[in-house]
Amino acid sequence: MDKYNDLSKENLIDKIRELEDLIDALKEEKNQEELLIFPWVGNLGHWYWDVKSNNVICNDQKILALKYRKDEIPRKIGFQFFTEKLHPEDYERVMENMRRHLYGHTPVYEVVYRIQAKDGSWKWYYDRGKVTKRNEDGKPLLVAGIVFDITVEKEMQLLIEEKNKELLEIVNIDYLTKVFNRKALYEKLKYEVVRVMRNNECLSVLMLDIDHFKAINDMHGHLVGDVVLKQVAQIIKKSVREVDIVGRYGGEEFLVIFPKSNSKQCFTIAERIRKSIQESEFPDGIVVTLSGGLKEYNQESIDKLIDEADKSLYQAKYKGRNQIVF
Ligand code: GH3
Ligand code: MG
Ligand code: MG
Repeated sequence: MDKYNDLSKENLIDKIRELEDLIDALKEEKNQEELLIFPWVGNLGHWYWDVKSNNVICNDQKILALKYRKDEIPRKIGFQFFTEKLHPEDYERVMENMRRHLYGHTPVYEVVYRIQAKDGSWKWYYDRGKVTKRNEDGKPLLVAGIVFDITVEKEMQLLIEEKNKELLEIVNIDYLTKVFNRKALYEKLKYEVVRVMRNNECLSVLMLDIDHFKAINDMHGHLVGDVVLKQVAQIIKKSVREVDIVGRYGGEEFLVIFPKSNSKQCFTIAERIRKSIQESEFPDGIVVTLSGGLKEYNQESIDKLIDEADKSLYQAKYKGRNQIVF
């Protein structure tokens, strides 16, 4: 600071003018970048942030992309001009990323965030910068960076993610009952079996079949039959733990996979399901009952495991239905 002490007021004003001219020249140079940036889609150009004076010098594009007119761009811009427009869900992450970089914990500041344009719409920016100058104590003086508008790409990515989720649902979820389908059940079971072998845990499966379902269809029609199927699936789902896996194995058959459970523990749950179905109200006053076969995993193949559960199920049918056998 000492070197300014002897300067007269006029001299100081001259110095300020010089600096302002320099800033204007820099800004102009940033705006000329437009000529260079078109090959990089979304590139909004460079920015510099003078930390001490909190002056952000950037290509006007960074502000014009937020739907401000050129004459609305303030002469002095602090970092808050941008941070106050950040999406609330992104704000803390962006600030933390910058803080960590300013403290020297990361080699670069690099974030993707949503920023609100003047018309209220949201833009996605990819921003990347670096402290280019520090004082003797290591305090940051200048940060330089580059920013891209990635709104189009990001929205495309989100759309693809959403479509993927929908596809995954089509592939794994039974369209009628909204529980897992047979294919998904096999995959889950394969995964669980590997886990059992690795961790020496136990695992049980329960095969459930609606009793005399054909008669329900015949008497009340297929549509009512569908409603019963949906309702049964939901009751089963509600009766088990979050970690248990419920799926539709076939027409009116459901399979429940119970990780980390032996057949004795599962029998209690199976009984709870059976009673809950019997006591539930179905359309047209139909009384629905289930028979079930329970099998604890014992190193056999998955097909064999399911087959054993099925055998117990048929015993339950043979013994008069509306019961669980293991
Ligand atoms: P049991 O007590 O021995 O199991 O007798 P059941 O009548 O339940 O068994 P069966 O295998 O004879 O009949 C099953 C019926 O389930 C026949 C089939 O039309 C019906 N079904 C299969 N899938 C669907 C479906 O998606 N919707 C409807 N409404 N019915 C279905
Ligand atoms: Mg059946
Ligand atoms: Mg049946």
